[in-house]
Amino acid sequence: MPYSPDPDLAAFLRRLPKTETHLHIEGALPWELLTRTAPDRFTTPPASWADDFRFADFAHFEKELLDMAFAFYSSPERYHEAAREVFRRLAEEENVRYVETSFASGMVEFAGLDGREVAQAIKAAAPPGMEARVFLGIHRNGYHDASRGFIEDSLDWPELDGYDLHGAETMVLEPWTGRFWEQARAAGKQTKAHAGEFSGPDGVARVLDELGVKRIQHGVRAAEDAHLLARMAREGVACDVCPISNVKLGVVTDMAAHPLPAMLAAGVLCTVSTDDPVSFGNRLHQEYAALAAAHGFGKRRLAEVAANGFRVALLAEDQRAAALAEIDRLLAEPETTP
Ligand SMILES: [Zn+2]
Repeated sequence: MPYSPDPDLAAFLRRLPKTETHLHIEGALPWELLTRTAPDRFTTPPASWADDFRFADFAHFEKELLDMAFAFYSSPERYHEAAREVFRRLAEEENVRYVETSFASGMVEFAGLDGREVAQAIKAAAPPGMEARVFLGIHRNGYHDASRGFIEDSLDWPELDGYDLHGAETMVLEPWTGRFWEQARAAGKQTKAHAGEFSGPDGVARVLDELGVKRIQHGVRAAEDAHLLARMAREGVACDVCPISNVKLGVVTDMAAHPLPAMLAAGVLCTVSTDDPVSFGNRLHQEYAALAAAHGFGKRRLAEVAANGFRVALLAEDQRAAALAEIDRLLAEPETTP
């Protein structure tokens, strides 16, 4: 098991209320559901679960993930089944209270699904005590004749909480994107974008400028530009960071080289999440344990990262305050040595 914390820290991490704010539902597919559905094709967990595994590139990662996702996500019922299990485990095993998860417009298109039914199916899967927000993930080239209709319709789906820009960051930002992201906010939706993973600081600056987002998925390569980090801190831009994903995809050379501490030091609000656990074999508490092991984060700093998840959450202010107060109480316990 990677990044095994000492028992005291492990117990603290179990009790720490957490969020997942960067989670692809296709990439969170519970392995047991996949093996039950396609037992001939999926017999052993992917090699990419090994701690020392590294993907060759994004295309390698995407192909492996899509092979698994296409084998399972064939109906809104399947989305519901998977989301129910994902949320249950996050609630019971990781003390997660709030989740933002995206489903891919390309899956809706490929499988011929009703996108609104998928959004409803995911939303309805949250157990009592957990708040789930559902995002439609659209690839950079995902808006075209076959998808335009349901993507435009989705602005009126009350079950849908927002949009996330997906796909290879080397692709251009097509002209529809800025217009649609603006319309989405006008319709009351949250907007995010993947950037600063395979694109450098310029890729992050571009989605800030052209899409007007305040939430970046990853964003870690912004750390290469101190001026950009200062701008993000000033403008209240938050990054939903996935350290283990970054290591396995070669975005950073190893966990010790991960820029999350530098981003926090620059005043950028950062959260941690698992991204695509069926590909990385990671669990949320391991992301926190990795920061403890590789960067010496103690309880106070780990709690601050967890608190950031609630700070960015689409929650009523009293719910947010209650979660933050619970984290404060946990830190204030006498046996706690931050
Ligand atoms: Zn992602």
